[in-house]
Amino acid sequence: MRVYGPNELLKDVREKGLCVECGACVNLCPYFKTNRGKTIMLFPCDLPEGRCFAYCPKAEVDLDELSISRWGQTYETNPLGTYLQVLKTRAGKNAPAGTFQAGGTVSSIVAFAMKKGLIDLSVLTDREGLTPVPRIVKRAEEVITCAQSKYTIAPTLEQLNLAIHDGHEKIGFVGTPCQIIALTKLRSNPLNLPNFSDPISFVVGIFCTWGLDARNLEKTIASKKVNIHTIKKMDIPPPPAETFVVETDKKKLEILLNEIRKLIPKGCTICPDMTAEWSDISVGVLENNPGWNTLIIRSTLGLEITEMAAKEGWLETENMPEENLEHLKIAAYNKKKRALKHALEEGILNNNEQNSFSALRLRPEKVKKFLNP
Ligand SMILES: Cc1cc2nc3c(=O)[nH]c(=O)nc-3n(C[C@H](O)[C@H](O)[C@H](O)COP(=O)(O)OP(=O)(O)OC[C@H]3O[C@@H](n4cnc5c(N)ncnc54)[C@H](O)[C@@H]3O)c2cc1C
Ligand code: SF4
Ligand code: SF4
Repeated sequence: MRVYGPNELLKDVREKGLCVECGACVNLCPYFKTNRGKTIMLFPCDLPEGRCFAYCPKAEVDLDELSISRWGQTYETNPLGTYLQVLKTRAGKNAPAGTFQAGGTVSSIVAFAMKKGLIDLSVLTDREGLTPVPRIVKRAEEVITCAQSKYTIAPTLEQLNLAIHDGHEKIGFVGTPCQIIALTKLRSNPLNLPNFSDPISFVVGIFCTWGLDARNLEKTIASKKVNIHTIKKMDIPPPPAETFVVETDKKKLEILLNEIRKLIPKGCTICPDMTAEWSDISVGVLENNPGWNTLIIRSTLGLEITEMAAKEGWLETENMPEENLEHLKIAAYNKKKRALKHALEEGILNNNEQNSFSALRLRPEKVKKFLNP
């Protein structure tokens, strides 16, 4: 993996508009900070190789290297990545009740892992108005306070960096695929730091087709005369709705997706991962089954925790309908194809000259397989 420093991070990622404000470069040093969901660099730094660059999910992501470090094998051409099993799930009768985004699988399984002492804390994402607010949650009962999707890109990893800095070693993390890519880079110790030990114990990925810029979403919704502090829930109903729905106590606002898509940051257009391929388990909605989730189990740890949670009534599981699985594969494949095509057009895929930058790297024969199956 090529690793450069903060100047290259500014030039190749931030100035090219590829940053998705994930927070991976924040709280590693005194220089990068976030302000209301936006990353800023306070002072210049000339380090030739830095953790900020090494962990960034938009800089030099080599999918084969990532796959070898995470799964011990090169990158698969299965659009869902490496996995063991796919299930239909929702919160079980013994899980804490709450208002979830869909089936509550994420909140239930994270709270269960905390209750059982498998993780000491979890790094989650709350919101104030429409500003995403990452939180370190230390009690299982508090997990529910961060339930529901924020649909905005979020600097969740800045809190992970703080938790690691404070010496925590059994950390649970919930995040979008880009955040999980950054976390997986971190876990692979790309700078060969001495005495490195992996502080992450359980990773839950949430599916993502695109995220939205929080400040621009705030402007769009405020322009529709909705007080952003009264928003109770946001949702994207399944096709053919083509709307983004914002609910308050008194109002249900439907905004056309065409208007919302203008708020997608450029970094999302080169994102090849819809299903958080590097997590222990990945969770999304289940098409035509409101109140249920799709659960992809990827690691043996993910399988063990799922089975324990199901046995103790924290999770309800059923077989995944074949039709849903096929649709999911098509959606994930389409996202990958769009991302690789866009990265190729932007000239940020597989540049091999000395000191050149690539946002993404994948062996050309595999790129070809995705672009021309
Ligand atoms: C930006 C975004 C895009 C999504 N796109 C899709 C999609 O295309 N298809 C699909 O099937 N599902 C998508 N999802 C996932 C879906 O909305 C649900 O999060 C998922 O089904 C889990 O549901 P749940 O009821 O188990 O979650 P809950 O139990 O309600 O828990 C939600 C969890 O998500 C975390 N979270 C919320 N917002 C963010 C954020 N912005 N960044 C990081 N973590 C966050 C919270 O910490 C919480 O732990 C998207 C989610 C987000 C945030
Ligand atoms: S994508 Fe994340 S790590 Fe990269 S520059 Fe933006 S905030 Fe930093
Ligand atoms: S599309 Fe990719 S880069 Fe954008 S928010 Fe989702 S996971 Fe992150």
